[in-house]
Amino acid sequence: MDGANALSAADQTLIDGVLDRQRRALAKSITLIESTRPDHQERAQQVLFSVLPHTGGAIRVGVSGSPGAGKSTFIEALGNYLIDAGCRLAVLAVDPSSSLSGGSILGDKTRMETLSQREEAFIRPSPSAGSLGGVAEKTREAMLLCEAAGFDVIIVETVGVGQSETTVAGMVDLFALLQLPNAGDDLQAIKKGIVEIADLVVINKADLNPTAANATRAQWKQALRLLRPALPGWTPTVLTISALKREGVAEFWDEVTKFRDILTANGALAEKRQRQAVDWMWQLIHFGLNQQFQRHQAVQALLPEITRQVAAGKMSPSAAAHALLRFLNCDPPISKEFLHA
Ligand code: GDP
Repeated sequence: MDGANALSAADQTLIDGVLDRQRRALAKSITLIESTRPDHQERAQQVLFSVLPHTGGAIRVGVSGSPGAGKSTFIEALGNYLIDAGCRLAVLAVDPSSSLSGGSILGDKTRMETLSQREEAFIRPSPSAGSLGGVAEKTREAMLLCEAAGFDVIIVETVGVGQSETTVAGMVDLFALLQLPNAGDDLQAIKKGIVEIADLVVINKADLNPTAANATRAQWKQALRLLRPALPGWTPTVLTISALKREGVAEFWDEVTKFRDILTANGALAEKRQRQAVDWMWQLIHFGLNQQFQRHQAVQALLPEITRQVAAGKMSPSAAAHALLRFLNCDPPISKEFLHA
């Protein structure tokens, strides 16, 4: 994004409002980011560019788990605990179901009832349109805006479905997996490879059956021991908690703090975030190219026939792909100002 463009007075007011920690300005900026209108997109990028120097200060925590695992109960308990300890907290959601159904299950108003009433909390459900890539892109940008607005902790919540966990793990410092005390759930998570991206595993609802919770905890510890640690010096911890009774929340946060200390001590946090930023850029490039391809008129015109030919064995898949991709060959020169922005 070229930052040299002049800002409108309205956008400058928005930026000042975000930096001044005004919730309304923050909410409006996120709405701007979520808008698909090209002029809004341009303004949103200007706003983001301006606040970028003020980002990066928060602890970014991902929380994932299947529906009913207790995510909102847990985040509500954790949020209240953190606010009582003097923090300001933002909760954002990546909701893969919203892009499929058009409705955000994480947008339910009854969720996190006490937290949403607290001045120090900012809760934002995920936008309800676009693909997971699109939703995640907006969430990452919303996260930066929240940091510019001075939030100390950002929680990115996602439902444990398909790709969404990996996506969230790719935008946070620490990724926590919320599990129920039953073996079926763990086996599924282990199968999906989720265990490899979990920095912390939390067995919730331990109040219902402490024995089952402890057994699940032991299973998880065993499974995690077999993995090579993603962060040297850190073996993912497994905790049993009761979000409903608000038990184990302080212990959870202690682990987050320990993890974060290890990350910051040897420069690994900066490295992780740099890597995430570059990965993010590539995801956006793939996403953008894909969209450009799908929308290209010549591609749209030829795709059905070429697809038929490939299916019928009359054209090789590689020849078809090459022929279609040639439509994307257009190389406008890149401006010097862009590179030096
Ligand atoms: P989410 O879909 O993952 O956000 O799950 P919710 O937070 O909405 O919780 C689903 C249900 O489990 C609700 O009825 C909660 O009250 C209940 N629940 C959540 N945490 C606990 C817990 O620690 N113990 C018990 N007994 N119930 C819980």
